[in-house]
Amino acid sequence: MNISDEFDTITAISTPFGTGGVGVIRISGEKAFEIIKKIFTNPDFEPRKFNHGWIVDGEKKIDEVIVLPFFAPNSYTGEDIIEIQCHGGVNVTKNILELVLKNGARMAEKGEFTKRAFLNKRMDLSQAEAVADIIHSKTKEFAKVSTKNLSGVLKEKINDIRNEIFIVLSKITAGIDFPEDVKEPEYDYLIETFEKIISNIDSVLSDANTSNILRQGVSVAIAGKPNVGKSSLFNSLLSLDRAIVTDIAGTTRDVLKETLDLGIPVTLIDTAGIHGVNEKENKVEAIGVEYSKQSLNEADLILFVYDASQGVNEEDKKILELIKDKNYVTIANKSDLTKERKPDAVYISALTGEGINELKQLLTSKVCEVEPENLEFVTNSRQQVCLNRARASLDQALMAAQIHELQDLISIDVKASILALDELTGELITDEVLDNVFEHFCIGK
Ligand code: GDP
Repeated sequence: MNISDEFDTITAISTPFGTGGVGVIRISGEKAFEIIKKIFTNPDFEPRKFNHGWIVDGEKKIDEVIVLPFFAPNSYTGEDIIEIQCHGGVNVTKNILELVLKNGARMAEKGEFTKRAFLNKRMDLSQAEAVADIIHSKTKEFAKVSTKNLSGVLKEKINDIRNEIFIVLSKITAGIDFPEDVKEPEYDYLIETFEKIISNIDSVLSDANTSNILRQGVSVAIAGKPNVGKSSLFNSLLSLDRAIVTDIAGTTRDVLKETLDLGIPVTLIDTAGIHGVNEKENKVEAIGVEYSKQSLNEADLILFVYDASQGVNEEDKKILELIKDKNYVTIANKSDLTKERKPDAVYISALTGEGINELKQLLTSKVCEVEPENLEFVTNSRQQVCLNRARASLDQALMAAQIHELQDLISIDVKASILALDELTGELITDEVLDNVFEHFCIGK
């Protein structure tokens, strides 16, 4: 769909595929009410009230439903919207969807409802992106901070910065256009103002790393020789959060991956493949399969596990040699089998659960030093690119002001910084960027 396209009427099943208590079919566009009138037994409804009746295909009853009408412009998309709440289930939702399609709607593309909300100015692009973030967030924390963006925190901050830049630009332009009436702004004023705006942009960007960690998470690999309890530790860490653990697609035969919610998403990797460690082969380079070595290389943190009842032996030392330059924590597992407690290891028992909570706390502090709740702004990489561009242009403007460059020339960089911010909020955006943003949505949102 292009920005300039006429808006036709779209529909989709908004609830996840599969069986469930309730299924929701959404229709948005000019024909939403016309369509529902043809297929609903109780079409004289009031807006924003639920209306009970049957969805029918001629004489045939399809399902008993509740219909929620939202009149434009007071709806999610800014258009007339009908939401049909039917009984959950693959067939009933599909039958109703087909009936709606037959009566004049078109199947919605990914994120098209939210795209319309953006195009109809119900939200800016940072808010639309927050919708996708909330839907896809792997952790409670990220969902929580994403709601800040949905409520417009980033949008307001960017608009404030844009206004500050706009005021300087107006002063420069007035000085250029009406030299007899308006004096050019002083260079000291320009320098001071550019510095202030740059520091404002920096304050938004300063949380970018934490944003990225919260969004993408970190990877933690468990390494150790066979039978020290790596898999038991993997399971033990995960079972604490079993309800919110998700499978990661594309896991390999030799490396198990699961996501653990420690406030930030932690991809826990059980490097089962490392069992190739063998004294007789005497080749550290040959340890494990390539997958495991790669996982150790790519991991942000390694949990090096040894058997506390046996102590660190030669085999363990070879693995330690392999990871010595990496960020790792030494875990003495099977603490239930020994009373020994050395200060340089974290003692746990994957069997009894002893020390697992403490390990989780240690992990949390290791992987994320910033408290997510203190995060003021969440940004994604697209927004960070725009902010960095705006900052770079202002830097140029600042340098030019410092050497008292012609204000005509300074204004070019100032304008460029405004354009970069407009791209961030979606005020100025190409179809390509827009399609890219909504590519990450699901159908029905
Ligand atoms: P891996 O080969 O390193 O993945 O080790 P496993 O997780 O398969 O464990 C090897 C053996 O050690 C199994 O019999 C486990 O039940 C046992 N084991 C694992 N963790 C503990 C522990 O904390 N205490 C005791 N006593 N046994 C454990």
